[in-house]
Amino acid sequence: MPVPAPRLSERLHAAGRQRITDGLWRSPPRVDYLDATHALVGGRRLTVFCHNDYLGLAHAPELATARLAAAARWGSGSTASAMVCGYSRAHAELEAALAEWTGRDRALLFATGYMANVGVLQTLLRGGDVCLQDKLNHASLLDGARLSGAMLKRYPHGDAEAAARQLALHPDVPALLATDGVFSMDGDIAPLADLSRLATSRRALLLVDDAHGLGVLGPAGAGTAAAAGLDQVQVPLLMGTLGKAVGTAGAFVAGPQELIEDLAQFARSHIYSTAPPPALAETTLAAVQLARTDHGRREHLDALIRHFRQAAAQLSLPLMPSQTPIQPLLVGDAGLACRISAQLAEAGFLVTAIRPPTVPAGQARLRVTLSAAHSMDQLDRLLDALERLFHQSPDSTLADGSATM
Ligand code: PMP
Repeated sequence: MPVPAPRLSERLHAAGRQRITDGLWRSPPRVDYLDATHALVGGRRLTVFCHNDYLGLAHAPELATARLAAAARWGSGSTASAMVCGYSRAHAELEAALAEWTGRDRALLFATGYMANVGVLQTLLRGGDVCLQDKLNHASLLDGARLSGAMLKRYPHGDAEAAARQLALHPDVPALLATDGVFSMDGDIAPLADLSRLATSRRALLLVDDAHGLGVLGPAGAGTAAAAGLDQVQVPLLMGTLGKAVGTAGAFVAGPQELIEDLAQFARSHIYSTAPPPALAETTLAAVQLARTDHGRREHLDALIRHFRQAAAQLSLPLMPSQTPIQPLLVGDAGLACRISAQLAEAGFLVTAIRPPTVPAGQARLRVTLSAAHSMDQLDRLLDALERLFHQSPDSTLADGSATM
């Protein structure tokens, strides 16, 4: 007698089948990096133009010695959560360096940015509070608010006036206002000065998720808030990730001493999770020092961004309004975005198509990202390929070949 599948797995499987029918089933491409900009993908050597390694530090030869020394000194793992025995000098030094870099009193490490956002929101908010968020905030901010039981209100993207109107509907309720600094799928920058004024006037707590701004924007790469001239009083909670411009992995939350100490006491995703490996913390410290001081990387990145936007505009490519290394090309149809991505792979470039549910329906795109590790020459070759693909008749090239990445 066949045993019937449990209802929950059956329901999930039905959702998966629907995703296949809708052409939205996703599988990760296997990307075996060869150096900072090249990887073997499906047996082909491709130039990668879709990672978040904005400063090119993930494979930087300048960090090779630090990587080896850190592994030799600290071994592989942290052995426990921070509160038990997983917290070392390497972690303490990294937290101090992150606080200094971002101009905050204190930083607290988390294993990932997802865990940092969920931990912070779940700790601060309770049922009956209000959590106001930009419509395009990262999923981890939304999930943290949902987990907290607070009222989650989402305002139209980048619209501080709409945020103010929504907040005015809940005058006497403790409130937290959360926004990405740089929006991960669009690349534009949040109106932080306006949001900060709004938060201050309402005694709401402002949290900025600067996953994509840290290392890239502001003096010495201190991030989006620093670029807007906002300090710890104006942006009390700053979340930064270490797996993007810093080129390693993990995340931190930085802010006033007392607030961060209190979060360390109560944030469940910090307390009940194994601390990041100390070797990773020490390697990250070396990467942070390089990110702060190597202004040449940011200057080259800025030059790449300017060149890409200027050339793409001349070629009438569907640019979005972004001044950051995230330069998406809006395609609309998910199938078409996948076909262009497959054709780009044929031409030697990895640019994954971003489709719903990561972006709203009808807004599939090629999320081109630029890195200080790219050369102008690599960028020009990408632009040539984009020109050929976007201006070819759809039925000659883009209509066939349905490989997805
Ligand atoms: N916030 C934003 C805006 C992100 O883009 C990401 C990563 N995609 C995260 C948070 C999560 O960070 P992590 O990858 O370290 O979990």
